[in-house]
Amino acid sequence: MEIGSLKVQVVKKDIKNIHLAVYPPKGSVRLSSPRNVNDETIRLYLVSRIGWIRKQQRKFEKQDREPRRDYVPRESHYFLGQRYLLRLEEKNAPPLITLTNKYLTLQVRPVTSAEQREKILNAWYRKQLKQLIPPLIEKWERILDVSVEDWGIRHMKTKWGTCKIEAKRIRLNLELAKKPIQCLEFIIVHEMVHLLERKHNEIFFAYMNRYLPKWKMYRQELNSLPMGKGLT
Ligand SMILES: [Zn+2]
Repeated sequence: MEIGSLKVQVVKKDIKNIHLAVYPPKGSVRLSSPRNVNDETIRLYLVSRIGWIRKQQRKFEKQDREPRRDYVPRESHYFLGQRYLLRLEEKNAPPLITLTNKYLTLQVRPVTSAEQREKILNAWYRKQLKQLIPPLIEKWERILDVSVEDWGIRHMKTKWGTCKIEAKRIRLNLELAKKPIQCLEFIIVHEMVHLLERKHNEIFFAYMNRYLPKWKMYRQELNSLPMGKGLT
């Protein structure tokens, strides 16, 4: 059965209730129904559950792209392209993150969930980016002779960055904190070049070639990593 762009495998069985499931890895949808339920009822049921189905599918999509992390000791985590091994220290004090050559030490209160540790680490990544981004924007404002009115950091699933040209506002993906700083700079330059040229056309790429001749290398680096994202 098809509901818009959604394909659902419908199986009629000797059961009492409708059962709906979304399966990894591709998020295929299967509905089992009692034999006496007609197609119209099934269709209405599916329409009422479409939000839930899409949510499950997005979850699988995300798992597919990003390696799952449990925030346990010796797990690999990245900052500015460098790999660090996670070390956990439990202490009754506000969370603290320190970096040494090899280790990223996460000092947390006793008994934190993986989710809490993820939040602490993401807050730290955000703080680092907030320090790294302004000087890069200032540098490129001078070189490109444009001005950025507003910028922000978002956790985006499908894009490294975005630019709202009218508002002169750029958004950068939080994940960039894990990539080499040249990749962060490349995304900033890409989004700022949109203030000179809206579209990804010859003019746009001529600017990129002129101002950041190695941009293709950085793009390749970003796209080759497990979670390849696009650019706008
Ligand atoms: Zn773009």
